[in-house]
Amino acid sequence: MSGYSEAADCPRCGSTESLERSIDRDDISGFCLECGYSYKTVYENIALKEVNEERVEFDMEPLTELKKPVEGWTDESD
Ligand SMILES: [Zn+2]
Repeated sequence: MSGYSEAADCPRCGSTESLERSIDRDDISGFCLECGYSYKTVYENIALKEVNEERVEFDMEPLTELKKPVEGWTDESD
């Protein structure tokens, strides 16, 4: 499925339909054509300790180390 974009109301300046929001797979970004408000999804890796804290919440055994990413995966962000 390819992305799409839509107009939305800006939460910052309150303009109606001024926020151009685009959704492409897991990337969501938007910017306001009135006030310049912009945002973009940011992905970050969570430390083992925090992952384990979450796992406890789901009644899962804590990990001793994080699972390795699939081959070809890079953590670099552009
Ligand atoms: Zn705005």
